Amino acid sequence: MSDSNYVDVIIIGAGAAGLMCAITAGQRGRKVLMLEKSNKVGKKILMSGGGRCNFTNMYAEPENYLSTNPHFCKSALSRYTQWDFIELVNKHGIEYNEKSHLDNAGEETHKGQLFCNDSAKQILAMLLDEAKQAGVEIQTRCEIESVECDHGFKLDTSLGEYHCESLVVASGGLSIPTLGGSGFGYELAKQYGMNVLEHRAGLVPFTLSGALKEMTSRLSGLAIHVDISCQRQSFNEELLFTHRGLSGPAVLQISNYWHPGDIVTIDLLPGRDVANILLDEKANNGKSLLRTVLSKLLSKKLVSECEAMWWQKEKQTSLAEIPDTRLQEIADKFSGWEIKPSATEGYRTAEVTLGGVDTNDLSSQTMESKTRPNLYFIGEVIDVTGHLGGYNFQWAWSSGYVAGLNA
Ligand SMILES: Cc1cc2nc3c(=O)[nH]c(=O)nc-3n(C[C@H](O)[C@H](O)[C@H](O)COP(=O)(O)OP(=O)(O)OC[C@H]3O[C@@H](n4cnc5c(N)ncnc54)[C@H](O)[C@@H]3O)c2cc1C
Repeated sequence: MSDSNYVDVIIIGAGAAGLMCAITAGQRGRKVLMLEKSNKVGKKILMSGGGRCNFTNMYAEPENYLSTNPHFCKSALSRYTQWDFIELVNKHGIEYNEKSHLDNAGEETHKGQLFCNDSAKQILAMLLDEAKQAGVEIQTRCEIESVECDHGFKLDTSLGEYHCESLVVASGGLSIPTLGGSGFGYELAKQYGMNVLEHRAGLVPFTLSGALKEMTSRLSGLAIHVDISCQRQSFNEELLFTHRGLSGPAVLQISNYWHPGDIVTIDLLPGRDVANILLDEKANNGKSLLRTVLSKLLSKKLVSECEAMWWQKEKQTSLAEIPDTRLQEIADKFSGWEIKPSATEGYRTAEVTLGGVDTNDLSSQTMESKTRPNLYFIGEVIDVTGHLGGYNFQWAWSSGYVAGLNA
């Protein structure tokens, strides 16, 4: 074996987790080589947050993550926190802001989501600069053909044979194949006797069918603030009507908890007592139509779609003539609109992959495989998935860091 193709650590995949791991291992004096199949590194970083990268969340906590073992992420998240990443961003002079949201009352509020003021390119440039300083070597357009064990690991690739002592798998999940999504990590985990849990698309829009799809299509482009819930989880976020169904942060968040066949409940007027509003209007403005009252609270287009679904018969009936119980019934529709998505848009548009390498087969302290020493898994390939809001990158940084300290 020539010295030129032997390194201490090989990292497969130069995305968020891989780059953080490479920097940390390189800073320890380890000779690190990253092998990336794509023509460019960090493609998802560049595309993230609408091109401004929501690089972390100030309130990141283990509770913001889904995993079969909800305790697994705790150690890594506490070893390398959002504040550690923010310090790195500050060191590089990158300007950022906390995204503002509107609450139910239309007041400005914040959820701890940090975005670059300028461009996601700055985050990638920062990571590449750190990697360069730590002596990390990066090979792009490299296909891994096989991985075998010798004293350490032997990799046959489209660029030749490489050997290493420690191997880190940072190849991500299946989301967005055009940005590098691949099942490589799952196959390698299986090769080494590790369990891979069922995986599915997460943070992904819903598709609808039939009349519901036609309705959302007519409303396409309309965004409203809602409470959305499924499987005892709920989020207060913006919902977007689309040609294919429903999207927007509210839907992406709840999609992580949705399974085919589940009902999703949407409160179209969160924080409002619609029944009270209708009964008040009935008492004070009995001649009004339901549509007139509700159009003060929601877009006219949406109210007219709701009218077609929920009070077609009372379309021209004044409030004074509608029984209170019926008004209550209609109000309940607004606070508990139940829909049954047909499916999600799948990996084509999903921001993340749920499930993956079973955390039971990994050390939560180091991300090392329990079945094969010196083999590590980090980032999205593991069965740890964050909510929308910078949590997924934080998991990439934290898991990458702890593996980098040990690989
Ligand atoms: C459009 C979009 C926007 C997003 N926005 C945000 C956001 O604003 N904030 C947030 O927190 N999260 C966001 N996410 C999620 C975030 O991008 C991921 O959680 C994160 O990138 C996962 O990091 P990773 O390093 O594990 O995987 P990836 O970033 O996917 O990196 C994996 C790398 O491995 C490479 N690879 C795959 N297979 C092989 C192979 N066989 N050989 C060699 N290389 C291979 C891939 O090409 C890729 O470069 C977004 C995701 C998408 C798709």
